[in-house]
Amino acid sequence: MKHPLDEKLQATLPVVAAPIYGTFETLDAAGQRLVLTKEGPFLEVRRAWLYARVPCGAINPALAMPYGKLDEMIDLPVLEAGALVGDFIANARAVLPNEVGGVVLWNEATRTARLAMCETLSASAGHLEYRRPVPLDGEHVVIDIHSHGHFKAGFSATDDEDDRGATKWAMVVGNLDSRFPTLAQRLCLHGLLVDLT
Ligand SMILES: [Zn+2]
Repeated sequence: MKHPLDEKLQATLPVVAAPIYGTFETLDAAGQRLVLTKEGPFLEVRRAWLYARVPCGAINPALAMPYGKLDEMIDLPVLEAGALVGDFIANARAVLPNEVGGVVLWNEATRTARLAMCETLSASAGHLEYRRPVPLDGEHVVIDIHSHGHFKAGFSATDDEDDRGATKWAMVVGNLDSRFPTLAQRLCLHGLLVDLT
């Protein structure tokens, strides 16, 4: 018996099969799907600023899978990310030793990006609570960035908890007292973490 809550939940990650003879039609609207392929399930994600499909699990090769194959693909927009991260680093150095957060917002109409700093609610050298800026019409949060002050860049257990289930490009900058800050980055795809460093 169908339960309406199951239908609602399953609609957040529908399951489709990759064809062997036909053509695979990519997801045409913002959302995510699980695609069964001959080699196991792929996660497919589309946002205004992103198209990605990545393998997300092994399948017993003995199983006769009547599905086709897919290639892994990650297509991110060309952002002036380097310059915006540079601006973030300048903002983060100004509040040392405290941590600070920011977002890079991408406007799908103008296809331009801008950095917006988060409003700090409470911060120290080891913790941070903030309020994210509200995107304007047509803007999407693409990069979620925060600093680790004097410490090395890297994703902490708290960061893992914050990124659970999210779709975003996550960055951490650290060693901000040094001439050469460290950077850690990963793509969060519906909670799946793809290391970009
Ligand atoms: Zn962190």
